[in-house]
Amino acid sequence: MRTVIYPGSFDPLTNGHLDVIQRATKLFDRVIVAVAKNESKNPLFTLEERLDLVTEAVKHLPSVEADSFGGLLVDYVESRSAQAIVRGLRAISDFEFEFQLALMNRKLNERVETIFMMPKDTYTFLSSRIVKEIARLGGDVSAFVPAHVQKALMSHLVVESEA
Ligand code: ADP
Repeated sequence: MRTVIYPGSFDPLTNGHLDVIQRATKLFDRVIVAVAKNESKNPLFTLEERLDLVTEAVKHLPSVEADSFGGLLVDYVESRSAQAIVRGLRAISDFEFEFQLALMNRKLNERVETIFMMPKDTYTFLSSRIVKEIARLGGDVSAFVPAHVQKALMSHLVVESEA
């Protein structure tokens, strides 16, 4: 059984993330999308909300499950009996940070491999940060996120503007 962990903030999940998840299912028997607690990043959505949005997005993919984790990623990888970590690479700008992270994780546990996947070209400009910004400014994000994520963004932003 080959298992891969796809870790991230997923604040919120976008079609770019889904593209990486779908590609990973072709290579692994099981894909665990692991939502990081990451409180220091000041997420728009709570951990529970981010996890719910991922769970809903992957429910049609039988080999994919959603989970959350805190602490060291390599420890989580071992605890789930996974062999690898998958990360998405959109552009050169992702490379330096991802390279550093992968090598640090290898230092911490050399049994864990990191693999990178490139999304479909139309998703290379897509990030959770940009989706939140467009939604905040009243733009249409329906091409960038699943419908339930769009709905969640709208209700969050209404609450924000009323506050
Ligand atoms: P993190 O805070 O860990 O970077 P993100 O949720 O922003 O969490 O991203 C998780 C992973 O998904 C990262 O490897 C990131 O590069 C990748 N990713 C994010 N958006 C896209 C996209 N549009 N296409 C491909 N990979 C993406």
